[in-house]
Amino acid sequence: RIKQEELQKKTEEIVKELTIESDEICKLTSYFIESMESGLDHQTSTSSKGLPMIPTFVLDKPNGTEKGVLMACDLGGTNFRVCSVTLNGDHTFELKQLKTKIPLEYLEDDTVTSEELFGFLARRIKVFMNKYHPDGAKEIFKMGFTFSYPVDQTSLSAGTLIRWTKGFKINDAVGKDVVQLLQDQLNKLELANVKIVALCNDTVGTFLSHCYRSVNSDSLTVGEISEPVIGCIFGTGTNGCYMEEIANIKKLPAELRDDLINKQGKRYMCINTEWGSFDNELKVLPTTKYDIILDQKISPNPGFHLFEKRISGMFLGEILRIILVDLHQQELLFQQFKVLPHRLSTPFELSTEVLSHIEIDDSTDLRETELNLLQSLRLPTNLQERVCIQKIVRAISRRSAYLAAVPLAAILIKTKCLNRRYHGEVEIGCDGSVVEFYPGYRSMLRHALSLSPIGPDGERKVHIFIAKDGSGVGAALCALVA
Ligand code: ADP
Repeated sequence: RIKQEELQKKTEEIVKELTIESDEICKLTSYFIESMESGLDHQTSTSSKGLPMIPTFVLDKPNGTEKGVLMACDLGGTNFRVCSVTLNGDHTFELKQLKTKIPLEYLEDDTVTSEELFGFLARRIKVFMNKYHPDGAKEIFKMGFTFSYPVDQTSLSAGTLIRWTKGFKINDAVGKDVVQLLQDQLNKLELANVKIVALCNDTVGTFLSHCYRSVNSDSLTVGEISEPVIGCIFGTGTNGCYMEEIANIKKLPAELRDDLINKQGKRYMCINTEWGSFDNELKVLPTTKYDIILDQKISPNPGFHLFEKRISGMFLGEILRIILVDLHQQELLFQQFKVLPHRLSTPFELSTEVLSHIEIDDSTDLRETELNLLQSLRLPTNLQERVCIQKIVRAISRRSAYLAAVPLAAILIKTKCLNRRYHGEVEIGCDGSVVEFYPGYRSMLRHALSLSPIGPDGERKVHIFIAKDGSGVGAALCALVA
């Protein structure tokens, strides 16, 4: 009895710690705007204040009338995808695709060279061309290369690898231009007609793909039209991009800004914010003891990506697991176990997908939750434990969605786009399983937007869309504007 009351009390405490009030949303939003501004002013080192705010050299948004056949490829942490995209010029497209699982040796064997990895990628592109464009040897195919690893991008089509993430260890690639590495291997295979003209980030791809598909710009009634303004991802990780006035991107050399604005007549450039690293200095981010354990004891990169570690799919399940282990240590949960089931004590074994089932469980005695925990963790639970677990799950996901609203509100305010033409109706294109599938996530995010400085009037002008195929259509569009 006493233990039960203690568990309830502790649960309430944890829920309270994870709760974000509206004044905190406002404080976070203004700090986010400050961090964007310092990131635009100077190169940020990983430890300093300010977001990375990487210039992408994408200067135009597609409007859906683009036409042509373009190629795209995407090197992820598990798969390499090659595709060709036919843009029909009416917001629609056709996509042909070849997906290959990256053989483990390229990820695990540290004697593999960059020539071997990029040679492998080029051979997959050759297989694709032979299958889908067998007569294409004389045609030039422009290709967009989605490469979601940290690169120092110097133009739309060149970027040197800063470091690998997601498992690759091929040291000799670091410091080299990844576009050149792949193009050299294509040339060796007599595929010089496939020209990599754009290095694309997955968030930027999501944005461009949404812009192409958005049909609202066709509407003729002023007031019903809305404008795509942000592309973002809430999946394994989180990130976002938007169009910034070139004049504000002070870290670009003055001559380059002048050339773009005065000679080329451009006004905006897409900025990849890399917002996963917002507030690594922990000035304003709400922090619980569980966040500290996750960052310092469990994650492979302590001190980095702290915003992402409170929001994205890779971490929400892990936060719950850390809380459950802690409650067990305090002898409040799972008291039948002296030693916890193996899976519950293994980092990253509890997937965010499990939380999404617990979140909406309204079955009698939370049977659904019971089965989910049994299946995923081999963890038996009693009803009282499940009631507490559900409360904690809902607090974790709510905090994630509330924090996710912060960068969106900040960008909407900074760009003043809610005051612009078309009565300031704006569209946000999102990708990622969390925003797409987590039950209620978008409603919670919208609620937080209405509590943010844009208020309920601003929130009503925001239209959130799921935009997929960023690394296919998006990268193809990136190649088209090159
Ligand atoms: P990626 O971001 O790697 O391209 P996804 O967008 O599919 O891939 O995101 C994968 C992440 O989303 C994983 O962390 C996974 O746990 C989580 N996830 C998968 N399915 C769901 C779901 N139904 N609800 C919430 N999260 C999910």
